[in-house]
Formats: sequence, structure tokens, C-alpha cells
Amino acid sequence: MGSYEYRKYPYRRPPELDGKSGRRPVVIVGAGMAGPTLALSLAQRGVPVVMLDEDDTVSLGSRSICQAKHSLEVWDRFGIAAGMVAKGITWTEGEVYLRDKPVYRFNLAPEPGHKFPAFVNLQQYYVEEFLYERCAVEPLVDLRHRNKVTAVMPRADGVAVEVETPDGRYTLDADWLVACDGVRSPVRHMLGLPYPGEVFHDQFLIADIRLKGDLPKERRFWFYPPFHPTNSVLLHRQADDVLRVDFQLGRDADPEEEKKPANVDKRLRQMFGPEARWEHEWTSVYTFTCRMMEKFVHGRTIFVGDAAHVVSPFGARGGNAAVADADNLAWKLAAVAGGAAPAGLLDTYCSERRAASVENIRHSTRATDFITPRFPASRVFRDATLALARDFPFARALINSGRLSVPTAHTGSALDTPDAGDWSGGPAPGCAAVDAPLGNGWLVDRLGRDFTVLSFGRDATPVAGATLMSVEGEELAGRRYDARPGTTYLIRPDRYVAARWRTFDPAAIRAALKRALGKEATC
Ligand SMILES: Cc1cc2nc3c(=O)[nH]c(=O)nc-3n(C[C@H](O)[C@H](O)[C@H](O)COP(=O)(O)OP(=O)(O)OC[C@H]3O[C@@H](n4cnc5c(N)ncnc54)[C@H](O)[C@@H]3O)c2cc1C
Repeated sequence: MGSYEYRKYPYRRPPELDGKSGRRPVVIVGAGMAGPTLALSLAQRGVPVVMLDEDDTVSLGSRSICQAKHSLEVWDRFGIAAGMVAKGITWTEGEVYLRDKPVYRFNLAPEPGHKFPAFVNLQQYYVEEFLYERCAVEPLVDLRHRNKVTAVMPRADGVAVEVETPDGRYTLDADWLVACDGVRSPVRHMLGLPYPGEVFHDQFLIADIRLKGDLPKERRFWFYPPFHPTNSVLLHRQADDVLRVDFQLGRDADPEEEKKPANVDKRLRQMFGPEARWEHEWTSVYTFTCRMMEKFVHGRTIFVGDAAHVVSPFGARGGNAAVADADNLAWKLAAVAGGAAPAGLLDTYCSERRAASVENIRHSTRATDFITPRFPASRVFRDATLALARDFPFARALINSGRLSVPTAHTGSALDTPDAGDWSGGPAPGCAAVDAPLGNGWLVDRLGRDFTVLSFGRDATPVAGATLMSVEGEELAGRRYDARPGTTYLIRPDRYVAARWRTFDPAAIRAALKRALGKEATC
């Protein structure tokens, strides 16, 4: 089933099997969405990486489709985002229906003037393909397919892993091991670490189809539609004219019965009408859990992406959070591995990304509770909200069909210098930098690979350890940063604001830089 051709990536005999061993600065387990993003970010900072994956192809079946603006900005630094945008479906608007009537529309990017759109719908297998192809031409990334990690041995100053290949087993020593090995994380299991959280029992049928005809570009969500009157349905368009339809089935459905082509066709026929023609791409039934590890850093082993936290698919937060984890970790791990920062800096990866996970889980659980109310009273509340939403804006604000992923804030991080001065807008310390047009280009393109001093005015001079970017006469950028002459921001390598001031003060910037590199860091 499916028109996507899964390419087999070549297996190459690892040098360790021929006695060529040596300790590696960083070994990554898992080449899904997080692993290659982290590997490429580390390589761009000069850190060589060995990345092990048990498989020899990209993600199987229908998983992540909504790739958020902040993920595209990360991938753009590897030069692959433009290709993803060209291949995928750009969308910013969505519509929510009650029965057969629209109750409200939303626009995720109400203001133009950003390099990337709010979302591009692109199947996870394509995303991974772009990442794998970029890894293949990156000399510092050694991506090894059909290399399965079967044991983890933590040591005082590093970690060793045992790896199984078609040619036999070998041991690899690393200063740092990063587990990007997905929700079932064998590394987490091998270390005996718990994964506390909540299990949701509602079941959803995914029917990915190629439908002939005029396809909607926007996201559509129906509560009680006439073609599926007891539950909800979600529709997304993906690359290659594939539609993803998610039918909520309830707790008691029989997944094997539901997956049978005749039963899927019956549901689709009710939805699209007797004339519609389609081909099946993928069918599956899923349930989900929301879980989070108590700590993401365990000695020299660090957990990233689904291995560390997992949410429901409503809101497109799983893969996008995995990319944000990788972006947060890469510069810190590079600084620690290169001796430019103390190991304690990595504890802030844990504290900042755990805060993000708490927020993601909160949003995702609220959406889940709205879409699949667990108690009769919550269903009554939900239905009353929907009934009022067409006429009353306050009720529209309560409808939750998935609050879609935006960069999370980590206010209060030990790395940030608290705000002084009067601010009525702009990203505060702990918030993501905002894009804006600059001349013929974009602000995101002018930010440095490491720290950036973004100064609105003429008086700024270079400060050691940061790239200087002076902006003048750019109205929209000035407004987005609440800028006056002299306003200065210190922006971290992951494009989060570390500090900001109303005047350019090199001593204050040097102090903020020092702090942002890991003083006072605790998890
Ligand atoms: C139905 C559905 C819809 C979704 N929709 C979205 C969406 O629209 N947007 C979004 O952002 N997210 C979405 N997600 C979530 C997204 O798919 C995951 O969050 C994302 O894949 C996590 O990436 P990861 O790199 O952490 O893990 P994975 O992508 O799971 O990668 C783990 C990798 O580890 C490898 N591995 C495992 N064990 C070993 C081992 N022992 N040795 C070596 N390698 C190993 C695997 O082969 C795999 O390549 C969706 C998920 C589902 C199920």
C-alpha cells in the first residue's frame, strides 16, 4: 500500500569490526526526526557524530505531517527547508465545523513578513529523507544504518554501547550518548528509567488516501459531522495530493475490523460522496499516551524527542518538540564537548525542555479532553460551547481542536538575564526570537550560528563571543522587537532571547553571555 517508495539506505561495515576503535565525542542512537537534526547541528559546530539506527529506511507509515515554522527555521540552517516547503503543502488557515456548518475559522499567521509559513504539511518520511540526504554530504556525520544498540554501559566519564550489525557486534565508546530512539526508547529501558504519564484509550483511524479532484489546503475539523455523526473527524492535505483523514472511533471499536479496506471505504464514501474516487496510501488505528521522564540528563546519557516526552498528535507537538529539543541541546553539548562551558550547562537542557514538555502536555491534554470528553459533564460543557460558538466569540475561544505548535517559552531559565527597563512588547528573555523582513532578506538569516547581539541603532560595537547585527530603519523589525534607538538583544544560538536592554552596554552583554554559557545552572 502507498505510492511512496521506501529507499534502502546502504549498510557499511563499521571500522570497529576491523579493530579500528576510538572514543567518540558524541554518539546518537536513533535517526528519526530528532537524531539527524541534532547530528547536523553538532556538525555545523565542528563536533563529529556517530549516529546509529537499527533500520535502513525512513519512518514507516503515516506519522508526523505538520511541520511548524520553528522546525523549518532550524532545518533552513542546513539548507534543506526550501526543498521541504516546495514539496509540502503550505497552510496557515483552518476551519472548525459543528455537524455540517462552519463555526469558526482561524489563521495561524495573521501578520505577513516571515520567511516561513506557520505550517507546511509534509509526511515524516520525506522530512527524514531530506535529513538523511543532508547527513550523507556532511563529513562530520557518520550515519550507520542497521546498527542496533543492544546494551548501554554508563561509565564515570562516558558511556559505552554495544551495537549489533549484519556483520557482528562491536562496542563503541563515547564521551556523550544521546538517546533519540523514540517513544519505546531501548536506551531508557536498558538503563531502567521510568516513563511516567497517562494513557488515553480513545482510538483514531488514520486513512491516508489519494483523492482525485479539488483538494482543500486548509485544516478542517468536524464535531459530529453528518458523515460520522457520533464523533469527530480531522482532515489535512499532504504532499503528493494525499489526504489524511482521522476518524475518532471511541474506546470500544475493534481496530482490526476498522482497518479492513471495505470498512474504511464505507466511512470515506459517506464523507466524500458516491462519485469520489481514491486510492489508499496507508491505514492504521492509533491510541496515544502523554508521558515525560523525570530527568532528561542521566550522567553522560541525554534523552531527546519521543524518548524523553510524548504527547497526543493533536497540536502537532511531538516531532516539532523533538526538533526543538535538538536545537536546544546542540549548542550546549558543542560548548561542553569543546570545553567552552561547564557540564552544568546541560542541566539547563533538562530544565528548559522539561518546561516545554509540561506546556506541550498541558495543551495536548486539554485538546484531548475537549475532543474526547472523559466524563458526561465535560461532554455537556463541550457541546454547549460548540452550540454557542457560531454566534458568540467568547465560546469560539474555548473550542479546542488542537492548539498548534508554536515555540514554547522557558521564562525564568538560569541562563537568562532578567528584564530591566520598560518594555511593552518584543520577545522577553526565555522567548524565541521573532523573524521580520530586513532589506531584501530576513532577520532569521542574519542571526549568527552562535550568540548574536542584535542592536537597533548605530552605537553598537563587536563584543567577543557574539556576532553583531545592527538594524536601522526597519519599521516592522523595530515594532516586533519594541525597539528604540539603542535597544539591544542578546540572542542565543538556538534563537532564544537571553537578555535585552534599552541601551548598548558591552559590560552588561559580557555578563549576560557568561551567564548564558552556564553559571548557576540547575535542573
Ligand atoms: C499518528 C501520528 C501523527 C503525528 N503527527 C505529528 C505531526 O503532525 N507533527 C509533529 O510534530 N509530530 C507528529 N507526530 C509525532 C512524531 O511522529 C514524533 O514525535 C517524532 O517521530 C519523534 O521523533 P524522534 O526522533 O524522537 O523519534 P522517532 O522518529 O520515533 O525515531 C526513533 C528512531 O530510533 C531508532 N531506534 C529505535 N531503537 C533503536 C536501537 N535499539 N538502536 C538503534 N536505533 C534505534 C528507530 O529506528 C527510529 O529511526 C505524530 C505521531 C503519530 C503517531
